Amino acid sequence: MVLSHPTPRNTRIWKEITHMTKQTMLAVLKARSTPGVELQRIAIPDPKEGELLVKVKAASICGTDISIYDWTPWAEGHIKPPVVIGHEIVGEVIEINPSASSGQAVYAEDIKIGDFVSSETHIFCGSCYQCRIGNRHICENMELFGIGRNGGFAEYATIPIRTSWKNERSVPIEWMSTQEPLGNAVHVVTKAKVSGKRVVVFGLGPTGLCAVAAAKAYGAKEVIGINRGEYRRKLGKSMGCDATYDELPKALVNQCDVVLEMSGNASSFVQGLEAARIAGTMIAFGIPKSDVSLNAGKYLINKELTISSVFGRRIWETWYQVSDLLKSKKVNLGKIITHECKLKDFEKAVAIMKSGKCGKILLRP
Ligand SMILES: [Zn+2]
Ligand SMILES: [Zn+2]
Repeated sequence: MVLSHPTPRNTRIWKEITHMTKQTMLAVLKARSTPGVELQRIAIPDPKEGELLVKVKAASICGTDISIYDWTPWAEGHIKPPVVIGHEIVGEVIEINPSASSGQAVYAEDIKIGDFVSSETHIFCGSCYQCRIGNRHICENMELFGIGRNGGFAEYATIPIRTSWKNERSVPIEWMSTQEPLGNAVHVVTKAKVSGKRVVVFGLGPTGLCAVAAAKAYGAKEVIGINRGEYRRKLGKSMGCDATYDELPKALVNQCDVVLEMSGNASSFVQGLEAARIAGTMIAFGIPKSDVSLNAGKYLINKELTISSVFGRRIWETWYQVSDLLKSKKVNLGKIITHECKLKDFEKAVAIMKSGKCGKILLRP
């Protein structure tokens, strides 16, 4: 591994920082254990050993950020304020503090100053059982970028080198920050093996919309989208849905080869089991906010379904697959990026998110 160690600090960052007042940056901070966030000026972080400092170019808002904003029970269990939130980002590398221990699981050996990198949200330990058998995305000691540690809704961010993805410059910057939902979708779709199949996608939020596009790209015969809100059904059509409905039509009960549950609604989970044909496949991705009650005999036994679940992206297999889809333009992420806001207008972006009349919202520092 060859990394130029910028000691003392890389001159480029110093030049930039000295132009700024008191070396501070604007950041969206989960400052307290109550609903809401605060926009604050805080110190620009120093990259620790094994980390990069990036100047954030774009970020996108995720449903998780809204859970944090609303301070849901899930957020309460995962966050210890103060934390800079935001995990879907792209930034330009302006400082590299390489790892001293060669035994650390470093991926991005060739990352250089000036590269555009995105962060994998799941910061793996590299040494637990799951990491050792190639399941780093479900590491037992996982830390979460922008959730358990400071993230990227800020002008600058530090990212561990081992969870940094170096982007191809041919991919638009806006798409670089929106790879996470596509990565989730690609993991879901590849696990389901959709080629030549009739696929039904429950929930057309950004990840569901990406699942529609990915299913088409991986050769699904037909893709049907189910979503209550009309705005996102229209987006579903533009991403490749052959048909969309507000709920499962009777004609599709027991008729779908593959069900992708992306909504996180307990009722959609059961509707998905209804939609699956005998010996069909269902992949659950959306996290239900309430308990799911189902007739196990009817669905799990009699239908002999293959039911599986997905949590995040395989590191780095899924990222390579995403990169191929973006470079070949088989998936156009531009269609789901419906709004853009300044970082300082974060509250406005939250209001748009909550209206449901949006796809991805891009934040520009
Ligand atoms: Zn996300
Ligand atoms: Zn681990």
